[in-house]
Amino acid sequence: MLKKLPLSLLMFAALSFSGKTIVAQETDAKIYDIISKISADSIEADIRKLISFGTRNTFSDTLSDTRGIGAARRWIKSEFDNIASDCNCMDVFYQKDFVTKEDGSRIPKDAWVVNVVAIQKGTKYPNRYIIMSGDIDSRASNTMDFKIDAPGANDNASGMAGTMEAARVLSQYEFENSIVYVGLSGEEQGLFGGKGLAEYAKKNNWDIIGILNNDMIGNIEGVDGVISNRDFRIFSEPVPPIETENERNMRRFYGGEVDGISRQLARYIHKTTQIYMPEMNPMMIYRLDRFGRGGHHRPFNDLGFAGVRIMEAHENYNRQHQDIRTENGIEYGDVIEGVNFDYAKKLTAVNAINLASLAWAPPAPKKVEIGGIVEANTKLRWEAVKDAAGYKIYWRDTTAPQWQHSRFIDKNLTEFTLDGIVIDNFFFGVSAVGKNGHESVVVFPSGTFR
Ligand SMILES: [Zn+2]
Repeated sequence: MLKKLPLSLLMFAALSFSGKTIVAQETDAKIYDIISKISADSIEADIRKLISFGTRNTFSDTLSDTRGIGAARRWIKSEFDNIASDCNCMDVFYQKDFVTKEDGSRIPKDAWVVNVVAIQKGTKYPNRYIIMSGDIDSRASNTMDFKIDAPGANDNASGMAGTMEAARVLSQYEFENSIVYVGLSGEEQGLFGGKGLAEYAKKNNWDIIGILNNDMIGNIEGVDGVISNRDFRIFSEPVPPIETENERNMRRFYGGEVDGISRQLARYIHKTTQIYMPEMNPMMIYRLDRFGRGGHHRPFNDLGFAGVRIMEAHENYNRQHQDIRTENGIEYGDVIEGVNFDYAKKLTAVNAINLASLAWAPPAPKKVEIGGIVEANTKLRWEAVKDAAGYKIYWRDTTAPQWQHSRFIDKNLTEFTLDGIVIDNFFFGVSAVGKNGHESVVVFPSGTFR
């Protein structure tokens, strides 16, 4: 049934049933293979190992082989090294920056903030990177206390373990773009590890597709009693913080308030999940992060890179940033009992299939421009993407969160007119489609023409 047909024949078919659009689309069997290979047992074993280091506070002991963040990051590196030697496809290294007490109010002493980076080099576009991150570090009630136990089972051994498991599975495949698997440090004291790696990436001219930051992907029981192993959240900021005054002005007249690069990445993840893991309930959250709170995608956003936070939907604050204790009959602490390994496996699979789709996809079109003022038609044009099998023009109602309509465009065209579609009533975007059927992120127009 899923026989490969030429793309142009079978890219997309949409049927309408009582107002609900049902999308039938070609799928890639390799993506289902990836989902089935992600192991809850392996994630559980990694979380248990990470907890065994007692505390992973960024300022904890670095010399011991059994306790503290030093032992934890050496173990993570050795795991990445093992994966690398099996596949012969990965560079593994430490990336580090020195922080001093002057760098922030939550720094108890000067120390190195050390990230563990594993890069699976792309065969065709080695300098294009899609990144998955988790955090090495943990904290107790007082983030300055780097001696007390801080197991950080969910926050954020779950994200770290998911990142390692994605590396184990995806290293069995070859990709056109590079995939980065990274354990970041210093999250709890001011997002220092993410800042360090984002600056490293910028300095080395990485062409970043985006970062999928995983922070707490294992708790299914909310502090309010809601239990769900289906819901999860994708946080994305509306527009990049580095936009210029001119770009901000343009938005007033041409739109784009909810169409920044991070939001497009979030839509991509939402869509891929709905196609391949329909049992899950991805929630698009239209904000940078939780109310007033932070995560390691932000330093990437700060430098103008696309990035989202993937996490559980129902948080349990009794199990976050808490000393292990019982008070008034309530158990506090981020312990292993608060982690659901099957759920962490599902969210790891969400990451893995999106890393794979994006790493198999051609680059997104550049210089996407739109026209159609005072016309009954909408026109789009873009720069040709070498090796693309074609493009897809998307559009949606101005109030719709997801792209609703699309049209496949032959690879020989770099301009197209949508007859009878009035520009005022929709938002538009363009993606590039590869010969393998995988698709880039949708690009919102950044210019106009007549
Ligand atoms: Zn935290």
